Amino acid sequence: MKGEQNLRVIVVTGASRGIGAVIALTLAQRGYTVGCLSRKGAGPEMDVPAELVPRFINAACDVTDEVSIKQALAGVAAIAGAIHGIVNKAGLHLDGPSDKLALKVYNDVMATNATAVFTACREAYPHLVKAGGGIIVNIGSFFDKVGVKRNVAYCASKAAVGAITRCLAVEWAPKNIRVIDVAPGYIETDLNRAAFQGPLREFLAKRIPGGKHGAPEDIAKLVAALFSEDIPFLTGETIYIDGGQGMTH
Ligand code: NDP
Repeated sequence: MKGEQNLRVIVVTGASRGIGAVIALTLAQRGYTVGCLSRKGAGPEMDVPAELVPRFINAACDVTDEVSIKQALAGVAAIAGAIHGIVNKAGLHLDGPSDKLALKVYNDVMATNATAVFTACREAYPHLVKAGGGIIVNIGSFFDKVGVKRNVAYCASKAAVGAITRCLAVEWAPKNIRVIDVAPGYIETDLNRAAFQGPLREFLAKRIPGGKHGAPEDIAKLVAALFSEDIPFLTGETIYIDGGQGMTH
């Protein structure tokens, strides 16, 4: 593949809700065919303009099951003819006091947020190689670089996403595959809707320099730009998009 303008088919995991649904919609609006993976496999659970519906290829997939990922990607490739990129967005947030945190909770968070990112990258690899190269965007979090009470599993999982991104970026660069970690700050979605009913909103108004948390559209526009702009020298990086919260004093 010569220019990345040729990227045409992008898979999004966790495309049913939250940030993933808006990423899928934004990519479709910009002319991409989007493979929408989630456990239900019903596509983005939001209002989608009728003319965009044919751009979605929906597939049921549990990202913690490597066979499920392989089959879902094969299904998308069979319909669309190729896969040029993947956004690993499926994610899970569970917390609890670290001295009592059950190993099952820790392992469940790591399985969805970190291990599944690796297996999805690994299973996407042959499709991207076949296409002559492509782009992988992993959705991390600015929690990868801060210490957060009750969040040991989530923070460890997101730090792992940064490490996976760096390792695959250097290993797969000769195949013209770039791997980028997009690490959001607070975005109001189902993942944290309950917390936003409490004091979190007020806390963030003070902690985020601009005084306001982000929207899924902020993340979706950045992800879409990573696919649509031809920036061959950009790989392996973690790009924080958190309104400056992670760097403020
Ligand atoms: P939501 O809870 O709104 O959505 C989670 C998505 O992941 C759903 O589409 C869900 O689909 C999917 N999913 C969960 N588990 C699986 C699984 N095993 N297999 C397939 N799909 C799965 O979350 P957000 O959109 O808020 O978060 C998405 C990502 O962004 C996560 O990685 C999160 O860590 C990250 N992030 C979010 C932030 C925020 O403030 N919201 C901040 C920083 C990072 P379904 O249930 O239909 O299978």
